[in-house]
Amino acid sequence: MTLGNGRSYLAIPGPSVVPDRVLNAMHRASPNIYEGPLVEMAETIYPDLNAVARSRGKAAIYIGNGHAAWEAALSNILGRGDRVLALANGNFGLGFAEAARGLGVDVELLDFGRRAPYDLGRLEQALKADRTHAFKAVLAVHVDTATGIRNDIASVRGVLDGLNHPALLVADCIASLGCDRFEMDAWGVDVMVAASQKGLMMPPGLSFVWFNERADACHASADLSTPYWDWRSRTDPDSAFWQKFHGTPPAQQLFGLRESLDMILHEEGLENVWARHETLARAVWSALDRWGAAGPIEMNVTDPAQRAHAVTTVHAGRPHGTALRRWVEARTGVTLGIGLGMGSVDDPDSDGVFRIAHMGHVNAHMVLGVLGAVEAGLKALGIPYGDGALAAAAEVIAGA
Ligand SMILES: *Cc1c(COP(=O)(O)O)cnc(C)c1O
Repeated sequence: MTLGNGRSYLAIPGPSVVPDRVLNAMHRASPNIYEGPLVEMAETIYPDLNAVARSRGKAAIYIGNGHAAWEAALSNILGRGDRVLALANGNFGLGFAEAARGLGVDVELLDFGRRAPYDLGRLEQALKADRTHAFKAVLAVHVDTATGIRNDIASVRGVLDGLNHPALLVADCIASLGCDRFEMDAWGVDVMVAASQKGLMMPPGLSFVWFNERADACHASADLSTPYWDWRSRTDPDSAFWQKFHGTPPAQQLFGLRESLDMILHEEGLENVWARHETLARAVWSALDRWGAAGPIEMNVTDPAQRAHAVTTVHAGRPHGTALRRWVEARTGVTLGIGLGMGSVDDPDSDGVFRIAHMGHVNAHMVLGVLGAVEAGLKALGIPYGDGALAAAAEVIAGA
């Protein structure tokens, strides 16, 4: 017998669940890419990309994943040998730094470990020590998907401004956009990157770079820029439609994106989307608190104010994390996220860690289902846990 048949649920932090509406919107024959409905529809996407980022700048669309957006952003503002300060508290901060290094940028890395947000005192010291203002940019990650930490991006801007440091502030919102509140202009972010397959509820394949005029002014000296990644032709109002993609536009994906932006901005509303993510995250945390009261289960981030609303990283003790993931997938049809880069000397493969995504097209019954599946797994595998977790989660949902 298996209890895993029926509709499966991929509860990993990207790719996230794609709504049937979005899949259906993409299910069409390739249209004319030079004029007609595709071109007219695509024009409506740009203002909505600004709305979802709370930006009045420009947005370039790339055919690529998040890693592509990293390189796109960096290559439009930096030259070979330019110096940047990269902030990391998880695998994705380290990856962003590595992407810069790979392009020939001189990277100073501030690593804040795996369990706490950026230490602003250390950030201030590093910027103060840069008397010649050699850092052209500070690379930050809003939500590190590996650790589940949410960093306070506005306060990074505060530190830069407090020191009159002219470095651009670059934010990776690949995990957080459409999940956690993000205000590009109000928070003083100059460049922001995101990708389609997380909060935007799309398949992987599109990524985005938003930038303001300050960032665009660095473009002239950015000798890393290449024609394909250049954001100017992609955002020039006089560019022909196909020039916005430097070749064939991703027609079906754009129709899908139109649908997902409609759902987020014009139906549910961005503020409501953020509130839904927060409540669902709190339901997950309340269950984890109860389980952890008697056993090895422990959230990676202690302070709820520092946790992402898109994903929660959980320590279960080696090898419980991997064992639980495998059991839950095989027996209940729910796929949990793997531990990523959390390994210690005792647990090099992060077998003690799993992640629960609550990102994008997710509602209360999905979250309650994941929590029920996890509890069944804890019981079946004999992993000790405290009781009352599902009741606690239900209480959060009931009280919302
Ligand atoms: C997913 C993710 C990435 C990488 O995106 P890919 O599409 O896998 O290349 C980068 N940064 C963050 C914060 C992410 O969540």
